Amino acid sequence: MAVQIEHYRDMGEFDYGVVTQVTPLIRRVVCKNPTPFTYKGTGTYIVGQGRVAVIDPGPSLVSHVDDVLAALGPDEEVTHICITHTHSDHSAMTSRMQELTGAPSYGFGPHGAVREFDPNDKVDFSNYLTTDEKQKFDQEWDDLPDELKREGPDLSFVPDESVVDGDVMQGDGWTLRAIHTPGHCSNHICYHLAEENALFSGDHVMGWATSVVGPPDGSMQDYLASLRKLLPLEHDRYWPTHGPAIPEPIRYVQAFIAHREDREAQIMAYLRDGARQIADFVPEMYAKYDKRLWYPAANSVHAHILHLVETGRVNVVDGDAPRLTATYALA
Ligand SMILES: [Zn+2]
Repeated sequence: MAVQIEHYRDMGEFDYGVVTQVTPLIRRVVCKNPTPFTYKGTGTYIVGQGRVAVIDPGPSLVSHVDDVLAALGPDEEVTHICITHTHSDHSAMTSRMQELTGAPSYGFGPHGAVREFDPNDKVDFSNYLTTDEKQKFDQEWDDLPDELKREGPDLSFVPDESVVDGDVMQGDGWTLRAIHTPGHCSNHICYHLAEENALFSGDHVMGWATSVVGPPDGSMQDYLASLRKLLPLEHDRYWPTHGPAIPEPIRYVQAFIAHREDREAQIMAYLRDGARQIADFVPEMYAKYDKRLWYPAANSVHAHILHLVETGRVNVVDGDAPRLTATYALA
């Protein structure tokens, strides 16, 4: 029987902007950018004591960088700013943190392929929303500070130091090794903290929910390969950017792989009933979830379908491009 996913959602005691020492070598400051997509917000990690690394400076909120730097002691110094990937809630504050610390940034590289914006190629679930829900969601959007409305790819980030799989960074009493884990984002890096056998898993493996895989930069094939890549490494604990620590990571990753295999089988079953568009079955497939998550869920379903098209199991009807709003049928 497949392992069941139980998400980890208990962040323990924390206050926004206030540092928490979560292990001997790890401190975390949670940014106040909670949304349906970021859970409680971005968790920025400080690794080590003395000469420290910062993992993911966070979104465009200047106060968050101030909070992270205020968490350091008078004799401490940031020597490495490590980026897991170029989504704005992770990397946007890198340049600001560099101005204040002079530390170089580390990451796989700039953002990869960005979907050419086609205003017609978008899913619309507004027919499924009640008037109350529509009002509530619109209000939440209006209430969100402008700087947090621009989540998504951070096209401005270029690392000072490019890291590739296996690269090692060191400071006072800590050693981080980069593990390239494309899928959620093609330039996603997880960082392994050798001294605690812990993994900073970014958005590749999150505690509170499964990762969104958005084509074209996100790839389901890569995501599954990057999940399988973690299994033999046998880390003791993951520290994701969103959500609390994951205490049994191997079992959890196995559950994610099984979950994706189930999703793929579900999509094949929908298409067995006849040619369809993604928006036709996402509401049923994700009926249990917050409706605001249907939009990123449609991207993940699209990623599955692109993988099925590439492997010859599904066709695009009428020879259309494999767009989000195309009609798909079994090959
Ligand atoms: Zn992300």
